[in-house]
Amino acid sequence: MTYPRVGDRRCAGQDGRRSHRVENGAEEDVVRVEVNPNMCEGHGQCNAVAPQVYDLDEEGYCVIRNPEVPPDLESEAEAGALACPVQAITVTRGAGLT
Ligand code: SF4
Repeated sequence: MTYPRVGDRRCAGQDGRRSHRVENGAEEDVVRVEVNPNMCEGHGQCNAVAPQVYDLDEEGYCVIRNPEVPPDLESEAEAGALACPVQAITVTRGAGLT
């Protein structure tokens, strides 16, 4: 008969494993949008397609008020990024993909 060693994943308590999964799931749900201000030319297409995600300043350049997009706006975030004619917008998912 073999016993799990201290530090082996099989030794972790159920509560520890459960909280780890929840934490990873929450991180995977995070979608972030970022605009490169050096590339943005103020076409406004992002705002026209997804005004809930992309705002414009008084000169028509993209302003992102909340870089962390809720899951229900993920498709809008991606559509706005695709609409940008100069690919100034980056959409990433997960905490480690910034
Ligand atoms: S569509 Fe692209 S270039 Fe136009 S405002 Fe949005 S980010 Fe800037």
